[in-house]
Amino acid sequence: MHPSYVGRFAPSPSGPLHLGSLVSALASFLDAKHHGGKWLIRIEDVDSQRCKPAHSIDILDTLASYQLTSDAPVLYQSQQTERYQSLIDELIRQNLVFPCQCTRQELKHLNGPHTHICSSDIKKPHAWRLISHNKDISFLDKRQGMQTQNPLQQIGHSIIKRKDLDYAYLLAVVADDHFQSITHVVRGCDLLDTTAAQINLFNTFEWNVPQYCHIPLVTDDNQLKLSKQNHAPAIPKANLETLKHALTLLNQKIGPQQTIQTTLDFAIKNWSLARV
Ligand code: GLU
Repeated sequence: MHPSYVGRFAPSPSGPLHLGSLVSALASFLDAKHHGGKWLIRIEDVDSQRCKPAHSIDILDTLASYQLTSDAPVLYQSQQTERYQSLIDELIRQNLVFPCQCTRQELKHLNGPHTHICSSDIKKPHAWRLISHNKDISFLDKRQGMQTQNPLQQIGHSIIKRKDLDYAYLLAVVADDHFQSITHVVRGCDLLDTTAAQINLFNTFEWNVPQYCHIPLVTDDNQLKLSKQNHAPAIPKANLETLKHALTLLNQKIGPQQTIQTTLDFAIKNWSLARV
C-alpha cells in the first residue's frame, strides 16, 4: 500500500478517446489503484484552438463507461489561468523568463531548438520563454530506467506563455501536477523528452518532483503512434473486448471475468508494471 500515492490522467481534448489514450489512462489508473492511491482526471484544454468542450465531455463519458472516474472533481486547465498568470508574474519578477517575438519563419531558420535569449520589445505581442541552463538533469524513470537530459540543448528555452495569450503545456502541466499534489506520473513515452524541462520548472519553484514512468506507445500497422493527429479512431463506450484488448497491449493478465467492473478489479489486483 502507498497511502500518499496520487496519480493522474491528463488528456488534451483535441479529439475523442482512442485506444492509445485508453491504454495510458488504464496504466495510470491501475498503478494508482494497485498501490491503494488516488487517481485524478485533468482536462488539459489550455490550447483554445485545438481543444473543444464537446471532446472533453465525450472523453469523460467514455472513461466513465469503463469505470474510470476521478477521485476528485475533474480539473479543467482552461479555468486555471489566474493561477498560471501569477506563476508567470513570479518568474518575470525573478528574471527567469524572457519575452520572445520570433516569427514562425525565424524559428524555422534556427534549424533546432531556441537556445538564444532574444531582445524583444515588451510592448509588442510576445511569447514568454523560460530560461533553461546548459545543465544535465538526471531522473530515474520507473519503466525506462536512468535518464539524463539537457533541456537547453534538447528543447531550448521553452515557451510557457504563447503569443496568442494561451498558456503553454510546460507551465500548465507542472503547475497542476504541483497543485493537485501528484506523486506519480504514468504516461506515454512520447512525453519522455519533455520530462527534464518539467523537472527544471519544479526545481525553479522549489516544488516536489513526482516520480515518472513512461510506458511504450501503442502504434498502428505502419508503426505510427496512435494519436488524434493521425486520426486514430474513437473507441466504443463500455466495450468489454476493447478493455481486454487494452489490457493485452499492457501485457497484463486477463481474467475470465465477464463485466467491465470485474475485469478492472482483476486487473487492479494483478497489475504489474514490470510486465508492461
Ligand atoms: N495532455 C497531454 C496529452 O494528451 C498529456 C500530458 C501529460 O500526461 O503530462 O498528450
